[in-house]
Amino acid sequence: MSKFLNNKLFRYLSVFLFLNTQFLPVKSSSALAAWALKNNGFLELRTKPNTNLKAYFQRANQIYGDRFWVDFPGELKNPRTIKGNGPIKEIRLGKPNKGKTRLVIEFNEEAYLNPLMWRMVGLNQNRWRIKLFTPKYSFKSIGEGLVEKRIKNIRANQGSSYIKKSVHNYNQLPNVKQNKFSVVLDPGHGGPDPGAIGIGGLRETDVVLEVSKIVEKLLSEKGVKVRLTRKNEVDLDLPPRVSFANNTDADIFVSIHANASRGKRRDINGLETFYFRGWRGRLLAKRIQKQILRVSPGSPDRGVKQGRFYVIKNTRMPAVLVEIGFLTGRLDARRLEKPSHRKRIAYAIAKGILEYLYKVG
Ligand SMILES: [Zn+2]
Repeated sequence: MSKFLNNKLFRYLSVFLFLNTQFLPVKSSSALAAWALKNNGFLELRTKPNTNLKAYFQRANQIYGDRFWVDFPGELKNPRTIKGNGPIKEIRLGKPNKGKTRLVIEFNEEAYLNPLMWRMVGLNQNRWRIKLFTPKYSFKSIGEGLVEKRIKNIRANQGSSYIKKSVHNYNQLPNVKQNKFSVVLDPGHGGPDPGAIGIGGLRETDVVLEVSKIVEKLLSEKGVKVRLTRKNEVDLDLPPRVSFANNTDADIFVSIHANASRGKRRDINGLETFYFRGWRGRLLAKRIQKQILRVSPGSPDRGVKQGRFYVIKNTRMPAVLVEIGFLTGRLDARRLEKPSHRKRIAYAIAKGILEYLYKVG
């Protein structure tokens, strides 16, 4: 109720205004290149260099909750709404009028905000940061790595910061005791069953087989014995995958898949890892999930969950099923079609497995 009284004070608070010398032509694509709302409460934005952004805050009214938004020059092609969690109700990307892009963060009623304390900080000519809430809320980071298909000005800059973050020194994978552990990797689908079909015809069976083979190589180099349930495009049902694993002395079973959303929604991206039972399965899932998220900045964390998939339910050893992204999602698909990203994902899975083996073994 008091909330509605506050609405009488309904006000626009122009919290910050940045003026830079260079305006972009109105018809250009959105100056917003990437954004991430991190679980520490920071909103991070990447824009074209020398972008003029304006940010606003508005208290809740009968229609909307508390809202914070940023306007960018350049028009967004595909408006969309992304579901929030914790203090965030939802995030909307839209074009409020021609030639503009608006990023709106709408808060839930219980969110405690202090917008007078907010300060937008320019980290360099194309990166911005603002702290919107304190990490007392449990919140899973949300973001998009590439808002529009390709923003030429940005690629060079952004490329370097992403690459720096994800340069993998293969020697830095954890060491485990040589010839002690054995792992079964299960590349999902195969043969006549291509699994998910994504943007541009990207096929799950191809992506997960390639990733699995790289994981195999990385683990073998660390002295871990690896067996694959399939090594090429063969038709392989679920029961033989399980009996194959159960007939080995494998310590763990890792099934590798990629997702597709119903209706092939391009705004749905994210990574998730399932286990069926036991603390070991859960620990393994957590280790893998953490690592794959690290190499997929901006892609949502859909979490570690219990799942009743046949292959993880019926295998005897700790078993997980990892979904390495949505082939139907704009952000994930653009990455998963690249061999470089497949390598990064494979590295991440191998790292999660090795961390687990190190801890449990
Ligand atoms: Zn699958």
